[in-house]
Amino acid sequence: MSAVSTPSPTPSSSHVMHTYGRLPIALTHGQGCRVWDTTGKGYLDALGGIAVNTLGHAHPKLVPALCDQVGKMIHSSNYYHVPLQEELAAKLVQLSGMENVFFCSTGLEANEAALKLARKFGQDKGITHPEVVVYEKAFHGRSIATLSATGNPKVHAGFGPLVEGFIRVPLNDVAALEKATAGNPNVVAVFFEAIQGEGGVNPMDADYLRQVRALCDQHDWLLMIDEVQCGMGRTGKWFAHQWAGILPDVMPLAKGLGSGVPIGAVVAGPKAAHIFKPGNHGTTFGGNPLAMRAGVETIRIMEEEGILDNAAKVGEHLRAALVRELGGLKGVKDIRGMGLMIGVDLTVPCSELMSRAADAGLLLSVTAESVIRLVPPLIMSAAEADEVVAILAPLVKQLLAEKGAA
Ligand SMILES: *Cc1c(COP(=O)(O)O)cnc(C)c1O
Repeated sequence: MSAVSTPSPTPSSSHVMHTYGRLPIALTHGQGCRVWDTTGKGYLDALGGIAVNTLGHAHPKLVPALCDQVGKMIHSSNYYHVPLQEELAAKLVQLSGMENVFFCSTGLEANEAALKLARKFGQDKGITHPEVVVYEKAFHGRSIATLSATGNPKVHAGFGPLVEGFIRVPLNDVAALEKATAGNPNVVAVFFEAIQGEGGVNPMDADYLRQVRALCDQHDWLLMIDEVQCGMGRTGKWFAHQWAGILPDVMPLAKGLGSGVPIGAVVAGPKAAHIFKPGNHGTTFGGNPLAMRAGVETIRIMEEEGILDNAAKVGEHLRAALVRELGGLKGVKDIRGMGLMIGVDLTVPCSELMSRAADAGLLLSVTAESVIRLVPPLIMSAAEADEVVAILAPLVKQLLAEKGAA
């Protein structure tokens, strides 16, 4: 493919609204875990479009399937039955052990639907002011309701008044959850990410998950687990909460589900599967044939190629290599995560690592100011994981030395 050199527009000359601080890079194509930009420079992709490109780029089985679908039908309408919705829903029900699925197009929409389910669950029981427990450092999206559920004050700033009906608690603290909800008859749901993504790769402990499940059963609350980022095989199981052996009542999905095609889904268990009635919720694009085909084929290819095992094995290989190279350093607080969702938590802010790594040929991101986040395609090989560490480790050491934190 020829490299076309397109100058990156400055924010003032761009006609795209300036909502992102972008690096001066424009990617044009990819293959597996490698991508190339307009100048022909190549990068190893440890970002995966932010945990989206499950099967990497230009997967040889996904591409022809999507081309086939585009040639048949991209979009029909939810005025009609969509057989591919039935197929993908049945598959998600099988993988999750839950009951049925509502389809949408993004993570925030999946979470918005979950919050509507929680409110209607309460309203149907006569609770006129339902409240949902949410968490510090949580990220659930950028709509007014999902940003209100989000824990980061920077996401709230400038968008008040926030949506009411949220109670915020710290992670992994059952006593705090019990105290915050004690004697409150308005609580209808507990809502969290099994592993917080944007908040800095913060896992909920398996014990905590089991205790919250028990509390939800005891009080008739919905357990709603946002698996938008940590789900779809990223941790080595289909869904991260499965490591704790529990079942949620509501599970929003998105990011990795379509390997890059926009798709969202809310999977519901028996307690939540029949709350919405015709007319209660909907979206034009949700469940369209192209997105559904992407979901069906992503899961089919993952099963055929043993991608869950790969995520678990290569994830562990990557984590171990990071611990070997960086684990002993004074400026490295923690290296955590599961499977191919890994955070390297530094004692100093490190946002400059994103551009320095890109210069060195590696795509990654920094969240929560000081956490290097690695969420590569789940097809990454052990050799590629070694390459990630070979590029990243010297950059981290150099940064820590510059900041007097080595
Ligand atoms: C990315 C993300 C969202 C929002 O998804 P969008 O598709 O950007 O709306 C919600 N929850 C979690 C956990 C996420 O990581």
